[in-house]
Amino acid sequence: MAERITGHTELIGLMAYPIRHSSSPAMHNEAFAQLGLDYAYLAFEVDNSTLEDAVKGLRALKMVGSNVSMPNKTVVGQYLDELSPAAKMCGAVNTIVNDNGRLIGHITDGIGYMQSLKDNNIDVIGKKMTITGAGGAAKAIEVQAALDGVKEISIFNIKDKFWEAAEETVKTIRENTDCIVNLYDLDDKEKLKEEMADSYLFAQATGVGMKPLEGMSVVPDKSFFRPDLIVTDTIYSPRETVLLKMAKEAGCKTMNGLGMMLFQGDAAFYLWTGKHMPIDHMKEVLDIKYD
Ligand code: NAD
Repeated sequence: MAERITGHTELIGLMAYPIRHSSSPAMHNEAFAQLGLDYAYLAFEVDNSTLEDAVKGLRALKMVGSNVSMPNKTVVGQYLDELSPAAKMCGAVNTIVNDNGRLIGHITDGIGYMQSLKDNNIDVIGKKMTITGAGGAAKAIEVQAALDGVKEISIFNIKDKFWEAAEETVKTIRENTDCIVNLYDLDDKEKLKEEMADSYLFAQATGVGMKPLEGMSVVPDKSFFRPDLIVTDTIYSPRETVLLKMAKEAGCKTMNGLGMMLFQGDAAFYLWTGKHMPIDHMKEVLDIKYD
């Protein structure tokens, strides 16, 4: 790494707090090294109180761009010059691109999820999906799926503080796309079963299944699954949630969130460098294997 850095090396950041645990710096720097690209990716501890100054710094230092994570994703938009259609619809940004001084905000989580499906030969375009969740990950997936041409999306969430966000997601999808979208209470398990029954894909995008909710599942039992239903989870720690284990036992093709993580990074990488990550190599490094 030290040998690689010169006076020409360009900087890309990650602004979040906490952030020291992130695997993004290792992932991006490995891809730069593999492709011989003269960039360095560094994580910066930035929270809402220092975000505006950090964005000014990005401009002043003529950085190529930055990733943005919690707690800044829904806040950073006001400091940028332009937002992508998906970022506007999500009200969130995870990638900033510095286009000759003009800062453009993108959200690549949904792109990453949709690309991970494609990479695993799953084609949901023109079909129906059922998804649980209304937080950042779920909203990004729901918006991108609608923009990409998924025909129908049934969203389930519990009636917690995210319910209003789910209603907003439904509204923005209806206003901006032709996708048929409906919102249901996740506590209504009969409705969940009904919507899953004629879906091509079931996507789990809540925090249920990882700490502190590890060992729990949004789907109560195996009777909700049928062998030709594809089941995905945004969670990748643990690699196999209770939900995915149950779905696999019911004969479903399953996929965890590692592919989404890789491809959201690849989409940002492409926006900054005009090149894709060496995907096969990155899949080996991240130990991504499909069923
Ligand atoms: P968030 O905090 O924004 O949203 C949390 C969601 O979980 C909400 O929909 C909330 O209603 C739901 N929820 C919380 N407790 C619940 C319960 N007891 N029962 C039912 N629903 C409950 O979180 P987020 O950023 O959207 O992340 C959601 C999941 O997606 C996390 O597990 C996270 O690790 C994962 N994620 C994965 C990637 C990836 O690249 N694979 C990216 C982002 C997030």
